[in-house]
Amino acid sequence: MRGSAIAVVIGLPFAFAATAGFLAGMAPIGGEAEPVAQAASTAPAPAPTVEPASTPVSTSPSATPSTIDPYIEAMSGGSETLQQGQSDRSETNLGDSDVEILNWVETDDPVFFITIDDGFDRSPEALALIQDQQIPVTAFLTEFAVRDHTDYFNDVTAFRGSVQNHTMMHGALNDPTTDVEWEICETQDRFEAQFGYRPWMLRPPYGAGPDEPNVLKYAEQCGINRIVLWNVVVSNGGEVEYWEAPIRSGDIVLLHWQDNLAQSLQTILDLGREQGLTPAPLEEYI
Ligand SMILES: [Zn+2]
Repeated sequence: MRGSAIAVVIGLPFAFAATAGFLAGMAPIGGEAEPVAQAASTAPAPAPTVEPASTPVSTSPSATPSTIDPYIEAMSGGSETLQQGQSDRSETNLGDSDVEILNWVETDDPVFFITIDDGFDRSPEALALIQDQQIPVTAFLTEFAVRDHTDYFNDVTAFRGSVQNHTMMHGALNDPTTDVEWEICETQDRFEAQFGYRPWMLRPPYGAGPDEPNVLKYAEQCGINRIVLWNVVVSNGGEVEYWEAPIRSGDIVLLHWQDNLAQSLQTILDLGREQGLTPAPLEEYI
């Protein structure tokens, strides 16, 4: 299927804040650009950094509303977009917080990272592909979507991957009506009971509010030390959007559990292979 039905959006809809050294600007995820406070990181690996886009172009995907009923999303198989993977502080150590926000990983290794969100659709074809190629998968799961599907998600994360926190009900964490503590901390407790370990990464639904004070506060209180966004999106069985094409070392790819996930996975594996890249466990790099 290589080369077929692959829509590649080259470049990215963001502005680069050169003076601050991180992404800024057009993300609909709340929060003004603020200086990054450098603080000691607990990470053994180098802190992720973000490079400027050399040629930003105007092929911006349309913004998605920051609040979408999770049951609507359940039907559509997910809603995170490339644009929402941005963060004003995507390279960060936030003040006194030990929580780090990242949207790609600085590494010279020829690797990229596969993350798959939500969990409403559990494709047997995707499971077969993951098992056949022993693909490391970081699964950012929404608790209400996966509470009865422990075996499937243990199976798909069996190759040095893990289950991580994508909240209880997929609430937008920058929405004042969202109970941020419950969305983050209840998920931690339930996943620890369900999967036998406590997540240490959080992906905010829609990429919304990663640097909101309450998000950082409850993430840290409940055992999260990484807030993981993304810089490549593959959807609809093989449509690829890059911040900076082609796929590069350290890119974090976002997919969703949906019925055509296997085709999307095969597409990004093929594109990675063309660049000499293979998927690696995010867990071993951050
Ligand atoms: Zn999601």
